[in-house]
Amino acid sequence: MTHKNITLTMIKPLAVQKGFIGPILAKVNEAGFRIVAMKQMKLTVDQAKDFYAIHKERPFYNDLVAFMTSGPIVAAILEKENAVEAYRELIGSTNPAQATDGTVRKLYGTSIEANAVHGSDSDDNAVIESAFFFSKLERF
Ligand code: ATP
Ligand code: MG
Repeated sequence: MTHKNITLTMIKPLAVQKGFIGPILAKVNEAGFRIVAMKQMKLTVDQAKDFYAIHKERPFYNDLVAFMTSGPIVAAILEKENAVEAYRELIGSTNPAQATDGTVRKLYGTSIEANAVHGSDSDDNAVIESAFFFSKLERF
C-alpha cells in the first residue's frame, strides 16, 4: 500500500526551541503542501530508538536519540504530488552547511544532527512513519 502523495516530517527539538515552527510551516505552505495531520509532542527514548531503528548501527545513533528526546517536536503528515521528493528538495541536504540557499535546513538548521526537520526518504517509509505518529482518526 504505497502512496506517492504523502510524506512525514518532524520539526526537531532545537528548531522548536528556537521558535521556528511558524517560519517552517510557512515554507511548507508556500511550497504547496497540505497538512493532513499535525501534533506537538515529546518522544520517549524508546519511541525515538524505534523511529530511528534503521540507524542503530551508525556511530551517531545514541546522540541522535538523546537529541530527539531533548524537547518537544512537531510531527506532521504532508500531502502533495510526489511528496517525498518534493519535500526533500524543499528541506535540502542533511548537513545545513551543504544545503542549498533558501532550503529549510539552510535557513533553520544548526548542525548535521540538529538540522531543523526530518523528511521521509521513500514512499514506503512515508506510510510507515505516518502510522507511527497518527491514527486514521487524526488524519483530515
Ligand atoms: P532525516 O532522516 O532526519 O530526514 P536525512 O535522511 O537527510 O535526515 P539520514 O542519513 O536519514 O539523513 O540521518 C538521519 C538523521 O541522523 C539526520 O537528519 C541527522 O539528524 C542525523 N545524522 C545523520 N548523519 C549524522 C552525522 N554524521 N552525525 C550526526 N548526526 C547525523
Ligand atoms: Mg533519513
